[in-house]
Amino acid sequence: MPSTKTPAETLTDIVKRRPALRSILEAFAPIYEEQEKQTERLVPVMKEKGLSLPVINPSRFNLGVSLLTEKNLPHFGPLLSDVASGMAAVLRTLPQFNGHTDGFDALFRELSVDDEEKLINACTKNDPSIVQELAKSHNMPLPNLMFAVEMIVPVLFRALRRRSLKDSTPWDENNMWQQGYCPVCGSYPTIAWLDKPVVDERNTYLSEGGGRKHLHCGVCGANWRFLRLGCPFCSVSKSKQLEMFSEEKNPYGESVDFCSDCHCYYPTVDLRERTELPNLDAQALGMMHLDIIAREKELTPLRHSFWNTFSA
Ligand SMILES: [Zn+2]
Ligand SMILES: [Zn+2]
Repeated sequence: MPSTKTPAETLTDIVKRRPALRSILEAFAPIYEEQEKQTERLVPVMKEKGLSLPVINPSRFNLGVSLLTEKNLPHFGPLLSDVASGMAAVLRTLPQFNGHTDGFDALFRELSVDDEEKLINACTKNDPSIVQELAKSHNMPLPNLMFAVEMIVPVLFRALRRRSLKDSTPWDENNMWQQGYCPVCGSYPTIAWLDKPVVDERNTYLSEGGGRKHLHCGVCGANWRFLRLGCPFCSVSKSKQLEMFSEEKNPYGESVDFCSDCHCYYPTVDLRERTELPNLDAQALGMMHLDIIAREKELTPLRHSFWNTFSA
């Protein structure tokens, strides 16, 4: 099993081959590192507090119901403000916060159950309108609150998933999960990756060539297998529906897949020849040069992130 790099190592690798992204990637490296640190810290805390993912129910999976839905979201309570204050120091260093995170410090300190749900849903549904009122009442620009939400909420979801499942992907067994959104939290993926065709442990034959496609959730960190030629949004696979583009020379296997029906796109990285695996969240950020091309082609990101949402 190849080793996996940390977010900072992944970003350093990308800066070496793509120096034009240096300033932005170096600015975000400490945030990604802090997320990782906070996530690891929270794994045992989740256990202490008795928080875990619901048990997989294959018949619900067949219906496309993720493990966490609006009805059974865990109540993180003070853990959410705890993570927010842990992340505040690094968020403050970003130009858009201009040294101040007072607005969201106050917001996360006084969270009602209702507000907590709004913050979580804004993140998993990737919908800033859910926190519009909260931003207004706390006198914060909506993009800043949404950015904070997207940096803070994933820490809790990743810790919860790791505490319950480590990095296992039980949904890949018997193709239990066939959706383009996350089997754990329901979010659309931020990136897809291809791995080596592997020897099937039970049947000891090689799966067909070309590698298998997996989708990666940037919120809870889950990975799941998906139809190689299918669109995660339309959730169907038909001939010529999925197209791709990449830079002319593409030695790192970085490309964008897009759907000719719904015009959504997402970055894809081919990891078949890599001896060390990148951190996928950092990898997605490091492919923002392709987001710019996608934008020119009038494609829409499958999941909006701070680096692929440009003001018009
Ligand atoms: Zn997820
Ligand atoms: Zn589509």
